[in-house]
Amino acid sequence: MVRKDDDKIIKQLKEILTTGVKEYTEKAKVQTEWREPLIAIASAQDELFYQLKSVISPEHNLPKDLVPEAKSVICYFLPFAAPIPTSNAVDTMKPAMINIEEQNFTAEKKRKLDNNKSANIPENLRPTTSWAKAYKETNDLIGILNKKLKSTLQDLGGRANYAAATGNFSPAELISYWSHKHAAYIAGLGTFGLHQMLITRAGSAGRIGSLVTDLKLPVTERPEQEYCLAKAGKDCQQCIDSCHFKALTADNRLNKEKCYEILQANARYFADDSLEICGKCVSGVPCSI
Ligand code: SF4
Ligand code: SF4
Repeated sequence: MVRKDDDKIIKQLKEILTTGVKEYTEKAKVQTEWREPLIAIASAQDELFYQLKSVISPEHNLPKDLVPEAKSVICYFLPFAAPIPTSNAVDTMKPAMINIEEQNFTAEKKRKLDNNKSANIPENLRPTTSWAKAYKETNDLIGILNKKLKSTLQDLGGRANYAAATGNFSPAELISYWSHKHAAYIAGLGTFGLHQMLITRAGSAGRIGSLVTDLKLPVTERPEQEYCLAKAGKDCQQCIDSCHFKALTADNRLNKEKCYEILQANARYFADDSLEICGKCVSGVPCSI
């Protein structure tokens, strides 16, 4: 289905994101603040979606697996307000190791920490409370925004579907069935950094949402330049230095097992399975915001 009023639709979708963020901030008791959302559109037939079957996994979904006769993939980025990644940057002035006996934890949390071999992550390498809240609240916000976007696309005569903001992957194989960040790359929302995260015009500290629709929408151009300083030939490897867990290497590799171990240790620390977080490699670095 080709629509004549494509630009109007894009503006409408962007407006839903902007007002949705504003309403969520005002109505819900949230602590997180966000900067202006970014939006980009990919063709569901883009060859790069097919390449994800070899880049990520043969199990990775194609857009048509989410919506039959898919035409477009809408991707958006909700950038955190600057103080959030600043708060989560590695603080070399903080004490070295946490002592779980001295913390005022609940018995349940202590039990989880005691069971956690990785509990002795230095305190300055733990995600901050503000980072944890931003992660959780943004996932909730993405759920709300996706429903609003889907409803609007349906009102326009299309079908739409989306994968959850997080958790749609195999913990055993550490592969994603629908990678929001790869969809966002294909849509032109940004480029990948040495930290393997997407860097957008608004940085890399934030969360990505994506929806598939059978409405044909105008496709966004992918950026010509690399947003990662190192990939653009400049001298930077701050993300690698910020990953004290040695999950990132200068030859542009991510040790997924090591990274996931840290994410899980932090989830146990926060006593919340949904908080598989870290984010040190995107905090306090040149591409954070
Ligand atoms: S910190 Fe530097 S090297 Fe790492 S992704 Fe950002 S710009 Fe690239
Ligand atoms: S999320 Fe944490 S463990 Fe994973 S690569 Fe980034 S800094 Fe390293």
